[in-house]
Amino acid sequence: MIQDIERIYGILLSRQYQKKLFQGLEGLRKKGDSHIACCPFHKDEHPTFIIYPDRPEYFCFVCGARGDWLSYLQLKTGKDFFGAFLLLASEAGIEPAAYDKSAWDDELSRTILLELMAGFFSTSLYSPAGEKELFYLYNRRYAMGEVEGSSFGFYPGYCQTREYLMSQGLTHEFLDTVLDAVWSRDAEEFRLTIPYRDTAGRLMGMIGRDVTKKGPEAYRALTDLSLLSDAPFLLYKHRGSEDLLVVEGLLDALLVDRIGLQPVAGIGKSGLSAGQCDTIASYGTARCILCVGSGRERKDLMLRAAGLVESRGMQAAFLPLGDEYEDLDHFIRATELKDFRRLLKKACDREEFMRGYMT
Ligand SMILES: [Zn+2]
Repeated sequence: MIQDIERIYGILLSRQYQKKLFQGLEGLRKKGDSHIACCPFHKDEHPTFIIYPDRPEYFCFVCGARGDWLSYLQLKTGKDFFGAFLLLASEAGIEPAAYDKSAWDDELSRTILLELMAGFFSTSLYSPAGEKELFYLYNRRYAMGEVEGSSFGFYPGYCQTREYLMSQGLTHEFLDTVLDAVWSRDAEEFRLTIPYRDTAGRLMGMIGRDVTKKGPEAYRALTDLSLLSDAPFLLYKHRGSEDLLVVEGLLDALLVDRIGLQPVAGIGKSGLSAGQCDTIASYGTARCILCVGSGRERKDLMLRAAGLVESRGMQAAFLPLGDEYEDLDHFIRATELKDFRRLLKKACDREEFMRGYMT
């Protein structure tokens, strides 16, 4: 089960609640996908306060103020944590089961730390040290623009990362407690980084890939991922989509998302879990289109996933990939965009899928 705060944020983001929350700020205007305003936390004549469109967070690039909507409410209105939390819960129409301030504190420190790290890692990907990882992406036929627009990064190692974080004003004390609690130090070879956001868009985890390895051993969690076990990868971008394509693997999900023809979420090798399925249903998806690769074992996983989907009152559909393709990534690389468009139109029901399965 995803936690109340995450769900409240997810619902409010779908309604673009940030427009209401920050409406009193001077100079508020749209800039790209985000909003920008004069910072309420320092004397500001020019807008320097960024309000993100897809996560419940803000950041001032002059005074460095950063936090989430709950911290903003506490600072601006004088409400305490519980008051701020109850206000957002009632705006979202949710009756919260728990009010855990210390869990919120931990999550906020974690997202602040990981956002800084992700920014550093994506710059490092273009440094000489990140050459091998960058070539790996180009060799997978990611176009230059696709890599730049994605959130990939390069992890240059613990010491350099810690040095960078210090240069950004984080203290030894903070790093000793938060960084060492969040970051796994036994995965130093897994240097291509993939950020993992929860369903509210908060950066809660990071996965690393060792580009010299193949198969499941090529991936390792760089942080503890237990907070994300019920949050399908990239779901935050497609909460409440009528039709959601569910694919296996992070890179496959990223690729489909970059193509932009179909809302997509990624799941792991072991298939769709009950918790992930509950999350998808709770945000209002009507139909899940399942595509987890070919072969008997994968097809069984797909049927099991369909059972879960239907038991949550959603419709299940299947993408008939064809046995000549290992997975969706393989299909997309081996064919043209128009073929992918055609494939999406071929999503079929269980009966038709089973017919293809038996032959
Ligand atoms: Zn400021």
